[in-house]
Amino acid sequence: MKALEDKIVTEGTVLPGNVLKVGSFLNHQIDCDLIMEMGREIARLFKGAAITKILTVEASGIAVAMGAGAAMHVPVLFAKKNKTANVSGAIYTTAIHSYTHGVDYHVMVEKKFLKQSDVVLLVDDFLANGEALRGLADLVNQAGASLAGAACAIEKGFQKGGDALRQQGLRIESLAIIEKMSENGIVFRKQ
Ligand code: 5GP
Repeated sequence: MKALEDKIVTEGTVLPGNVLKVGSFLNHQIDCDLIMEMGREIARLFKGAAITKILTVEASGIAVAMGAGAAMHVPVLFAKKNKTANVSGAIYTTAIHSYTHGVDYHVMVEKKFLKQSDVVLLVDDFLANGEALRGLADLVNQAGASLAGAACAIEKGFQKGGDALRQQGLRIESLAIIEKMSENGIVFRKQ
Protein backbone atom coordinates (compact mmCIF):
# COMPACT_ATOMS: atom_id res chain seq x y z
CA MET A 1 0.00 0.00 0.00
CA LYS A 2 1.73 3.10 -1.32
CA ALA A 3 0.47 5.55 1.33
CA LEU A 4 1.78 3.28 4.11
CA GLU A 5 5.14 2.75 2.41
CA ASP A 6 5.54 6.52 1.96
CA LYS A 7 4.70 7.10 5.63
CA ILE A 8 7.24 4.47 6.74
CA VAL A 9 9.95 6.10 4.62
CA THR A 10 9.26 9.64 5.82
CA GLU A 11 8.51 8.96 9.51
CA GLY A 12 9.92 5.53 10.42
CA THR A 13 13.19 5.08 12.30
CA VAL A 14 15.31 1.94 12.14
CA LEU A 15 16.58 0.94 15.59
CA PRO A 16 19.27 -1.60 16.49
CA GLY A 17 17.90 -5.17 16.70
CA ASN A 18 15.91 -4.90 13.46
CA VAL A 19 13.18 -2.87 15.07
CA LEU A 20 11.30 -0.26 13.07
CA LYS A 21 9.90 2.57 15.15
CA VAL A 22 6.67 4.05 13.83
CA GLY A 23 5.47 5.89 16.92
CA SER A 24 4.32 8.94 15.00
CA PHE A 25 1.48 7.16 13.18
CA LEU A 26 0.96 3.60 14.46
CA ASN A 27 2.49 2.62 17.80
CA HIS A 28 2.13 5.69 19.98
CA GLN A 29 0.38 8.51 18.15
CA ILE A 30 -2.16 7.21 15.61
CA ASP A 31 -2.86 8.63 12.17
CA CYS A 32 -6.58 7.89 12.05
CA ASP A 33 -7.03 8.64 8.34
CA LEU A 34 -4.22 6.27 7.44
CA ILE A 35 -5.53 3.58 9.80
CA MET A 36 -8.98 3.80 8.21
CA GLU A 37 -7.45 3.60 4.73
CA MET A 38 -5.50 0.53 5.82
CA GLY A 39 -8.70 -0.95 7.19
CA ARG A 40 -10.47 -0.45 3.86
CA GLU A 41 -7.58 -2.10 2.05
CA ILE A 42 -7.73 -5.12 4.40
CA ALA A 43 -11.51 -5.31 3.81
CA ARG A 44 -10.92 -5.22 0.04
CA LEU A 45 -8.31 -7.99 0.21
CA PHE A 46 -10.57 -10.27 2.27
CA LYS A 47 -13.81 -9.42 0.46
CA GLY A 48 -15.88 -12.57 0.03
CA ALA A 49 -14.15 -14.42 2.88
CA ALA A 50 -17.32 -14.17 5.02
CA ILE A 51 -15.37 -12.99 8.06
CA THR A 52 -17.44 -12.62 11.23
CA LYS A 53 -14.75 -11.50 13.68
CA ILE A 54 -11.32 -9.88 13.82
CA LEU A 55 -8.84 -11.05 16.44
CA THR A 56 -5.77 -9.08 17.48
CA VAL A 57 -3.54 -8.77 20.52
CA GLU A 58 -3.34 -5.78 22.82
CA ALA A 59 -2.09 -3.16 22.58
CA SER A 60 -0.59 -2.06 19.30
CA GLY A 61 -2.67 -4.33 17.05
CA ILE A 62 -5.92 -2.76 18.18
CA ALA A 63 -5.84 0.36 16.01
CA VAL A 64 -5.26 -1.54 12.75
CA ALA A 65 -7.82 -4.16 13.76
CA MET A 66 -10.38 -1.46 14.46
CA GLY A 67 -9.80 0.14 11.06
CA ALA A 68 -10.45 -3.23 9.45
CA GLY A 69 -13.42 -4.00 11.69
CA ALA A 70 -15.03 -0.66 10.86
CA ALA A 71 -14.59 -1.29 7.12
CA MET A 72 -15.90 -4.87 7.36
CA HIS A 73 -18.63 -4.13 9.91
CA VAL A 74 -17.54 -6.94 12.22
CA PRO A 75 -16.50 -6.87 15.89
CA VAL A 76 -12.86 -6.66 16.93
CA LEU A 77 -11.74 -8.96 19.73
CA PHE A 78 -8.36 -8.36 21.33
CA ALA A 79 -6.46 -10.94 23.33
CA LYS A 80 -5.68 -9.44 26.72
CA LYS A 81 -2.28 -9.69 28.33
CA ASN A 82 -3.47 -9.58 31.93
CA LYS A 83 -6.46 -11.19 33.52
CA THR A 84 -8.04 -8.16 35.10
CA ALA A 85 -11.00 -7.89 37.43
CA ASN A 86 -13.37 -7.08 34.59
CA VAL A 87 -12.69 -10.42 32.91
CA SER A 88 -15.03 -13.12 34.10
CA GLY A 89 -16.03 -16.58 33.01
CA ALA A 90 -14.25 -19.23 30.99
CA ILE A 91 -11.24 -18.23 28.95
CA TYR A 92 -8.88 -19.54 26.26
CA THR A 93 -5.21 -18.77 26.90
CA THR A 94 -1.99 -19.12 24.97
CA ALA A 95 1.64 -18.04 25.34
CA ILE A 96 3.27 -15.59 22.93
CA HIS A 97 6.94 -14.71 22.79
CA SER A 98 7.26 -10.94 22.45
CA TYR A 99 9.64 -9.85 19.71
CA THR A 100 10.15 -6.34 21.05
CA HIS A 101 10.30 -7.19 24.78
CA GLY A 102 12.02 -10.57 24.54
CA VAL A 103 9.76 -12.27 27.08
CA ASP A 104 6.88 -14.76 26.97
CA TYR A 105 3.50 -13.48 28.01
CA HIS A 106 0.15 -15.15 28.36
CA VAL A 107 -2.83 -13.75 26.54
CA MET A 108 -6.44 -14.69 26.88
CA VAL A 109 -9.89 -14.17 25.46
CA GLU A 110 -13.20 -14.97 27.06
CA LYS A 111 -14.77 -18.06 25.48
CA LYS A 112 -18.08 -16.29 25.02
CA PHE A 113 -16.50 -13.93 22.45
CA LEU A 114 -15.00 -16.62 20.21
CA LYS A 115 -17.45 -19.19 18.89
CA GLN A 116 -17.15 -22.30 16.75
CA SER A 117 -19.34 -20.57 14.15
CA ASP A 118 -16.91 -17.63 13.80
CA VAL A 119 -14.81 -17.07 10.68
CA VAL A 120 -11.82 -15.18 12.07
CA LEU A 121 -9.33 -12.78 10.51
CA LEU A 122 -6.15 -12.19 12.53
CA VAL A 123 -4.80 -8.63 12.39
CA ASP A 124 -1.60 -7.17 13.80
CA ASP A 125 0.59 -4.12 13.34
CA PHE A 126 3.88 -5.96 12.67
CA LEU A 127 4.84 -9.42 11.46
CA ALA A 128 8.39 -10.48 12.36
CA ASN A 129 8.93 -14.08 13.52
CA GLY A 130 5.23 -14.87 13.49
CA GLU A 131 4.86 -15.61 17.22
CA ALA A 132 1.92 -13.29 17.73
CA LEU A 133 0.01 -14.75 14.76
CA ARG A 134 0.82 -18.30 15.94
CA GLY A 135 -0.60 -17.54 19.38
CA LEU A 136 -3.73 -15.93 17.97
CA ALA A 137 -4.25 -18.88 15.60
CA ASP A 138 -3.98 -21.19 18.61
CA LEU A 139 -6.84 -19.32 20.32
CA VAL A 140 -8.96 -19.72 17.16
CA ASN A 141 -8.17 -23.46 17.08
CA GLN A 142 -9.05 -23.87 20.75
CA ALA A 143 -12.45 -22.32 20.02
CA GLY A 144 -12.98 -24.61 17.01
CA ALA A 145 -13.58 -21.51 14.87
CA SER A 146 -12.49 -21.13 11.23
CA LEU A 147 -9.34 -19.18 10.41
CA ALA A 148 -9.71 -17.10 7.22
CA GLY A 149 -6.18 -15.67 7.28
CA ALA A 150 -4.16 -12.81 8.67
CA ALA A 151 -3.60 -9.18 7.75
CA CYS A 152 -0.61 -7.20 8.98
CA ALA A 153 0.25 -3.57 8.46
CA ILE A 154 4.03 -4.02 8.23
CA GLU A 155 5.80 -7.31 7.57
CA LYS A 156 9.56 -7.54 7.96
CA GLY A 157 10.08 -9.95 5.08
CA PHE A 158 13.71 -10.54 5.99
CA GLN A 159 12.49 -12.24 9.17
CA LYS A 160 10.93 -15.55 8.39
CA GLY A 161 7.62 -15.62 10.27
CA GLY A 162 5.45 -14.61 7.33
CA ASP A 163 6.92 -16.99 4.80
CA ALA A 164 6.92 -19.89 7.29
CA LEU A 165 3.25 -19.40 8.13
CA ARG A 166 2.34 -19.05 4.43
CA GLN A 167 4.07 -22.36 3.78
CA GLN A 168 1.88 -23.90 6.47
CA GLY A 169 -1.14 -22.75 4.47
CA LEU A 170 -2.13 -19.56 6.26
CA ARG A 171 -3.21 -16.77 3.94
CA ILE A 172 -1.33 -13.62 5.00
CA GLU A 173 -1.79 -10.20 3.44
CA SER A 174 0.67 -7.51 4.51
CA LEU A 175 0.12 -3.92 3.45
CA ALA A 176 3.85 -3.20 3.31
CA ILE A 177 6.61 -5.81 3.24
CA ILE A 178 10.13 -4.63 4.09
CA GLU A 179 12.79 -6.60 2.23
CA LYS A 180 15.68 -4.91 3.99
CA MET A 181 16.25 -1.94 6.25
CA SER A 182 19.12 -0.06 7.84
CA GLU A 183 19.87 3.49 8.97
CA ASN A 184 20.60 4.17 5.29
CA GLY A 185 17.18 3.28 3.98
CA ILE A 186 14.28 0.87 3.58
CA VAL A 187 13.59 -1.39 0.59
CA PHE A 188 10.09 -2.80 0.08
CA ARG A 189 9.16 -6.10 -1.56
CA LYS A 190 7.20 -5.55 -4.77
CA GLN A 191 3.71 -7.03 -4.34
P1 5GP B 1 6.30 -11.59 15.83
O1 5GP B 1 5.35 -12.14 16.85
O2 5GP B 1 5.80 -11.76 14.42
O3 5GP B 1 7.70 -12.08 16.01
O4 5GP B 1 6.40 -10.04 16.10
C1 5GP B 1 5.26 -9.24 15.92
C2 5GP B 1 4.94 -8.47 17.16
O5 5GP B 1 6.12 -7.88 17.70
C3 5GP B 1 3.98 -7.35 16.83
O6 5GP B 1 2.81 -7.54 17.58
C4 5GP B 1 4.68 -6.06 17.20
O7 5GP B 1 4.03 -5.47 18.29
C5 5GP B 1 6.07 -6.47 17.62
N1 5GP B 1 7.11 -6.08 16.62
C6 5GP B 1 7.90 -6.93 15.91
N2 5GP B 1 8.79 -6.26 15.18
C7 5GP B 1 8.55 -4.95 15.40
C8 5GP B 1 9.17 -3.75 14.89
O8 5GP B 1 10.13 -3.75 14.10
N3 5GP B 1 8.65 -2.57 15.34
C9 5GP B 1 7.62 -2.52 16.22
N4 5GP B 1 7.18 -1.31 16.58
N5 5GP B 1 7.02 -3.63 16.72
C10 5GP B 1 7.49 -4.84 16.31
